[in-house]
Amino acid sequence: MVQLKNELAKIKGIDKRFLTRLEKLKITSVRDLLWHFPSRYDDFSQIASICDLEADQTATIQGQIKHVSSRRTWRRKMIIVEAVVADDTGSIKAIWFNQPYLTKVLAPGRIVNFAGKISASQNDIYFSNPVYEFSGGGEREEGHTTGLVPIYPETKGLTSRGLRYLIKIILKNLNPVDEFIPLKALEENDLPEINEALATVHFPESLEEASRCKKRFAFEDLFLLQLNNLKVRSQLAKEKAAPINFSKIDLGEAITSIPFELTGPQQKSLTEILNDLSKGQPMNRLLQGDVGSGKTVVVAIAALLAAKQGYQVVFMAPTEVLAKQHYKTMTKIFAPLISNWELNVGILTGNEARCFFGEDLETEKKKAELVKEIANGAVKIIIGTHAVIQKDIKFKNLALAIIDEQHRFGVKQRAKFAADKKELFPHFLSMSATPIPRTLSLTIFGDLDLSIINELPKGRQEIATKIVAPANRKKAYDFIREQVKEGRQAFVICPRIEASEKEDGTAHQMMWKDVKAVKDEFEKLATKIFPDLVVGMLHGKMKSAEKSEIMNDLAKNKINILVSTSVIEIGVDIPNATIMMIEGAERFGLAQLYQFRGRVGRDKYKSYCFLFTSSSSTNAKQRLKSLVEAKNGFELAEKDLEIRGPGEFLGHSQTGLPDLAMNALNNMELTKAARDTAEKIIKKDPELEEDELLKEKLEHFQNQIHLE
Ligand code: ADP
Ligand code: MG
Repeated sequence: MVQLKNELAKIKGIDKRFLTRLEKLKITSVRDLLWHFPSRYDDFSQIASICDLEADQTATIQGQIKHVSSRRTWRRKMIIVEAVVADDTGSIKAIWFNQPYLTKVLAPGRIVNFAGKISASQNDIYFSNPVYEFSGGGEREEGHTTGLVPIYPETKGLTSRGLRYLIKIILKNLNPVDEFIPLKALEENDLPEINEALATVHFPESLEEASRCKKRFAFEDLFLLQLNNLKVRSQLAKEKAAPINFSKIDLGEAITSIPFELTGPQQKSLTEILNDLSKGQPMNRLLQGDVGSGKTVVVAIAALLAAKQGYQVVFMAPTEVLAKQHYKTMTKIFAPLISNWELNVGILTGNEARCFFGEDLETEKKKAELVKEIANGAVKIIIGTHAVIQKDIKFKNLALAIIDEQHRFGVKQRAKFAADKKELFPHFLSMSATPIPRTLSLTIFGDLDLSIINELPKGRQEIATKIVAPANRKKAYDFIREQVKEGRQAFVICPRIEASEKEDGTAHQMMWKDVKAVKDEFEKLATKIFPDLVVGMLHGKMKSAEKSEIMNDLAKNKINILVSTSVIEIGVDIPNATIMMIEGAERFGLAQLYQFRGRVGRDKYKSYCFLFTSSSSTNAKQRLKSLVEAKNGFELAEKDLEIRGPGEFLGHSQTGLPDLAMNALNNMELTKAARDTAEKIIKKDPELEEDELLKEKLEHFQNQIHLE
């Protein structure tokens, strides 16, 4: 008998090469294998006559193998196996790619079932990549070509056939698995028990059965996700944090020191944050708001107030550019306050260390020196990149950790702050400019409290957004020239850094054929279109020093037009820029396009966003159109979610959630049921001490996902 936790490699009789291929899919244990669900099921319950077959249908036939051969395509170096099979009514060819061993298996004379799709070539029809099963004789293996046949997401050399074979044997020898979902919850939601679900999801008798099982597994993940969220919440509620109490006078002074009035949502968010900070439990809050909605100003006030009380604050950004930006915002807007309150602000990145003490008082530091001052508490507010959580960084009395674009930081990184906690846990404040629809954030960020800034500061102009037809490219360039003449600046975004070296006609090549590359576009704009203007280039492969130089020049308006990859996406603040031109716009997600657009319109000047696309797909056009129409980021997010579904919207890699659960996020009913179930359990047994199995299961799940 095998157990879920058994390693496949330890099970006798599984082919080594097969194991290696499974490993590529991160399938190493029995559990991994059984949780690798079919992506669809083909229905082969009827056996057709060969003479009745038509192109584009899916069919099963039974016949005798007449002939087998293989050949190699000279360009693609692929091996094609061809077999001819005949029944009483006729014969048909079958073709497979890259499965040379089939010439040995499909011996002429044998009776075989073929099942799969019928394709058409110029003058004939053929089976393409059919599954096969010998009929009669020693190798008979049921369940491949009659009834519902599970089809798995395949990778090179790992066929659905091989998977079916292995899964079937494993299921036969599997020790019964313990059910960890409360029976009552299963009953209430009409979900099958685990052992039944495992067997049936791989070999169902009907599609309804299959989908009921998949629903069960989706529920399982949603349930664990909610359980995780609630547990994090209840654990954090037990930790102690420094209650940061500040006077109304200080707050008033901070607010009057800024040269503008806070918007309603800014005030509300600030109140929520300050309220959390005053408590003895750690805050765990997410501040969401459009680019330019004024999040930085809000968190800066919280940071300054905490520092005034003598605490240390760390403010971490995902990139150097962003860290500098925050440093600039702080030191510019709040310079008088920093002097008055005798505070200081340090910046620490891979490349620089400096400290600001108030108006015109800034010193360059050796990194080691700054690190020492962080450790002895001399530096109060530390802004930086990952550099601020390296091993050598110790804080004296860290009370507030602010994390910008938090989804770019992992749980592990967050844990590093907590590891320093000694007695007290720091308050956590995350910021994100990626608006997430409320329904989703309740599930995905269910452990966080939310503050939302859904209004831009007064006087911001709407950014004119246009999808530009290729024929109007010159007009767009003329417009850029006009704007530059008036003193403004422009961004040109391209989807990739450079064109591939050689045109070799591969699929990859074809896919990227018309996609603009930063280097080419830079070359073209600098020499042909705008030889009289200063064109700059920015991309991720450049050295950090080069990038800073470009950003500095850009800030000083020494660069008129910047050609860039998506590195410009987050946070860059050049108020003088008025044009955002995006090449290959269909290649970016809506949220990303939205971020790009947020780079302009940050000052009083009317700003523009030009979208270029070579795609004619309706989906792409629909998406671009919603960018043109959307009023704010949240509205856009709802749309994006609608068009792309939660999986693509959030990005699988970003959450680590299994696909099934991802898709189930759209199912509010199931999500709510999962949350209710989780709530009941946590209420009764917060540490899951009464349920060892569930506790273990949750730990396994937590290791799998990386929700931030
Ligand atoms: P975010 O961090 O949300 O992208 P920032 O805090 O960087 O936004 O603010 C963007 C710009 O708007 C900054 O130049 C900031 O000084 C300015 N700003 C912020 N809040 C207001 C406001 N209430 N009124 C006017 N300008 C504001
Ligand atoms: Mg910002």
